[in-house]
Amino acid sequence: MQHTTVKNGNAIQPACATRPRALSCGTLITLLFALLQAGGAGAAPTALVADRVIDGRSDRLSQATVVVVDGGRIIAVGGRSDIPPGAEVVELGDATLMPGMINVHEHPLMFASDYQNAHLANSSAYKALMALAGLQKLLLAGWTGVRVMGDADIYYANQDLRRVIDSGVFVGPRMTGAGHYMSITGGGGDINYLSPEQAVHADGLVVDGPEAIRKAVRTEIKYGADWIKLLVTGAFESVGDDPRNVAFSPEELRAAVDEANRHGVPVAAHAHAAAGIRQAVLEGVRSIEHGTYVDDDTLHEMARRGTFMVPTVYLGDYYAEGDLLRAQAKNDDYIKHGRAAFLATILRAHKYGVKLAIGLDLGAGIADPALYANEFAVFVEAGIPPMAAIQAGTRVAAELLRWDDRLGTLERGKLADVIAVPGNPLADISALQRVSLVMIGGKLIKRPGASATPAGILTAPVNP
Ligand SMILES: [Zn+2]
Repeated sequence: MQHTTVKNGNAIQPACATRPRALSCGTLITLLFALLQAGGAGAAPTALVADRVIDGRSDRLSQATVVVVDGGRIIAVGGRSDIPPGAEVVELGDATLMPGMINVHEHPLMFASDYQNAHLANSSAYKALMALAGLQKLLLAGWTGVRVMGDADIYYANQDLRRVIDSGVFVGPRMTGAGHYMSITGGGGDINYLSPEQAVHADGLVVDGPEAIRKAVRTEIKYGADWIKLLVTGAFESVGDDPRNVAFSPEELRAAVDEANRHGVPVAAHAHAAAGIRQAVLEGVRSIEHGTYVDDDTLHEMARRGTFMVPTVYLGDYYAEGDLLRAQAKNDDYIKHGRAAFLATILRAHKYGVKLAIGLDLGAGIADPALYANEFAVFVEAGIPPMAAIQAGTRVAAELLRWDDRLGTLERGKLADVIAVPGNPLADISALQRVSLVMIGGKLIKRPGASATPAGILTAPVNP
C-alpha cells in the first residue's frame, strides 16, 4: 500500500507505540494527564504562542501567532501585543496551533476488533468504563469532539458517558450521536453466523418494517440520542451481509428519516452501495457514512444539497495487515480491488464541492490513539490539499454536528478547544499524530514538558 501513515508517535503512552494493535495499553486507567490549568473563577487568561496558527477557516496559515483564552473562550487571535497583562503565557516555538480535532464517526463502546461477539461477553457497565478510558486517550491525542454512530450495547451507555463528561464528573471529548445503529434482520448490525436456535442480542438494533422503525427512532430520541444512525446497505466489517446490497426498503428508509426529521434529529446513513446512497441522499439524510460506491450523479446531488460525506478510509487500512476481523475476507477484497477507486472518488467529491468530514469508525479503545490522525493522511494521499483535510476534521466536522456557531475554528468568541502539533502539519500531515498540547473549554489538559500525574478522577466541566 502506498499511503503516508505513520504507526508510531504517541508521546503519552510509549507502550502503545510498539503495540499499535493492542486493545488497550497497559493498565487502562493509568492515563497520564497534565495537571489541570486555569478555568477556575478568577483564573488568569492563557496566551498560547506558536510559530504558526491554522484557524480552520482560511485556506492559508493565519498571520497570527497568539491565541488568547479567557473564561473558556477565545478572546483574541493575533500577535504578542494581544497578550493581556497577567496572562499565563505558553511558549510553543516551532509548532502549529489549530482547532481541536473532531471525529464524526466513532463507536466508543467497541473495545475489540471482534465487535459482533465482544458485546455478548461484557456488560454495558464494563463497556462504558472501557469507553471512558478510550475517549480520554483520544482527547489526549487531540480529539476534542466525537460523534457516536451507535454502539454494540442494548442500553444507552454512550448517553451516560456523555452525561458524566458534560456534567464534569470525568474529563472527555464533547459528545453527540446515536445510541444504536439500526439494521434489518440479516443486515450489518445483525449477527449472521449463529445457528437459528440461538437467541442473542445483536450488536446493532435490528428492526424491520416502517412502523417498527418509527418506534425505534422515537425510542432512541427518548433516551437522549441526537442523531439517528441507519445501516442503509450492507457493511464490510460484519459477517454474512454484502455492502453492495441495499438493506432497508424505500418505505423503511422514508419512515426513519421522516420520523427523525419531525423531531428535528438528523440522520446519518451508513451506505456503500450506489443505489442505497442515492436513495438516502434523496430522502434527506444529513450525512453519508463511507459512501464507497457512490456515483458521480449522486456526488453532484450531495454537493447541491449540502449532504456531508464521511469516508472513514483508514479503518480498512488498519485492518488490512493482519487477521483480526471475522469478515477479514471482505476487507481484504476491498483493499485489493476497491481502495484505489475509493480514493479517486473522494478526490472527485472534494472537487465537486461535497462537504467531506473526518471520521474513524475504529472504536475508542481499539487502536493506538495516535493512529486516529491517519484519516487526515489518507485524505492527503487521495490528493486533497492538507489544509482542506484539516478543515474536514475541524470546521466542516463542526458544521456537520451543528456545532459551528461555537466550535471548529480559532476565532474570537468560540469555545477554546485548541491543540498544538510540532512543526507544520501542512508540510507533514503526520504531525497530527504528535499532538503536544490539548486545551478543551479553555482548560489545558496536556502541555509540552509538563509533569504528568496519574489521572484518577478529574473534575472539569467542558461544556459551559
Ligand atoms: Zn461505524
